[in-house]
Amino acid sequence: MRPLPTPQRMYQALLEKDPACDGVFVVGVSTTGIFCRPTCPARKPKRQNVEFFPTAADALKAGFRPCKRCHPMDTHRTPPGWVVDLCDRLERNPSVPIRERDLRDLSLDPSTVRRYFKSNYGMTFTAYQRAMRLGQSLADIRSGNTESAATHKSGYESASGFRDAFSRLFGHPPGQSDNLACLKARWLDTPLGAMLAVATEAGLCLLEFVDRRALETEIGDLRRIFSATIVPGASDHLDETESQLDLYFKGKQQSFSVPLDTPGTDFQRAVWQQLTRIPLGETVSYAKMADDVDRPGAQRAVGRANGQNRVAIIIPCHRVIRADGNPGGYGGGLWRKQWLLHHERCMIEGKPLAPDSLWTEHPPQEVVTSR
Ligand SMILES: [Zn+2]
Repeated sequence: MRPLPTPQRMYQALLEKDPACDGVFVVGVSTTGIFCRPTCPARKPKRQNVEFFPTAADALKAGFRPCKRCHPMDTHRTPPGWVVDLCDRLERNPSVPIRERDLRDLSLDPSTVRRYFKSNYGMTFTAYQRAMRLGQSLADIRSGNTESAATHKSGYESASGFRDAFSRLFGHPPGQSDNLACLKARWLDTPLGAMLAVATEAGLCLLEFVDRRALETEIGDLRRIFSATIVPGASDHLDETESQLDLYFKGKQQSFSVPLDTPGTDFQRAVWQQLTRIPLGETVSYAKMADDVDRPGAQRAVGRANGQNRVAIIIPCHRVIRADGNPGGYGGGLWRKQWLLHHERCMIEGKPLAPDSLWTEHPPQEVVTSR
């Protein structure tokens, strides 16, 4: 992938509507949940409210919607009419999935649709739909507002479309949740991109990057496990998570004391517990983890339980790597795992921290060694 300019340079290009940067990056605006080309004619957002992405697909996956004025999804070639129609249809009502049969009813060939989205937007049509749906459902969590304010502010023409999208993901729509157990959710902006935090009365039960593929499944699991609906709201655990995470990213906090509420099987809980014992700045192999939880040889099972961890960073599953030093996988994306390991090593060694903003194309590429 091509490297991105520095965040300062990108923000300057945004203010100047620099045509040379069109197609180099897109910018997500946290206050509106919309993303734009750098050349968008709309009023420019404040620096603290923007997040830069290398491609429109990345912005979409992080829960932003394309701007209606500058059409950042369009490649420089004008997309065919059927693509525009399809995207419009989806945006009007993202909670209604468009399946292969529906495409055929629209006289479209599903494989053509799949190929077009894949080659132009870097994701399949199914992934595009999922990103739209998730983005719309997350809109009110991002704004942190009550139902009426959220539906209004998020700017969706159809409030019912919003309610459908929300209820599909989080349970009952906001405003209808008085008699149900409620988990509280908050949107957190971090240097590695937006995260969703969810807490029960007892503690934090989810902390995930909003573009993680498994997020929808995890949210569904939580709703089932706790028989609860998820609503944006206030919680001491969320306040604590937000402030500790902020200090962690600033390099000023090396461990977390937020109470956790992480139901799972005995084995999962043993693995997650063991993860919290890996000191900051260190890594262990899957094999050592298996030994540590008294299941020698069960690297694969450990890997699975690791991947099922719903509390990223605080339960540091990023500190487990392969025995040969290969970082292995990470649900939040490998670049984030590398960034986190690098960040933690800098904290321990008192080195300057990674720059405040992402640059996903440049994860620190040092050799990671295992104990
Ligand atoms: Zn725009």
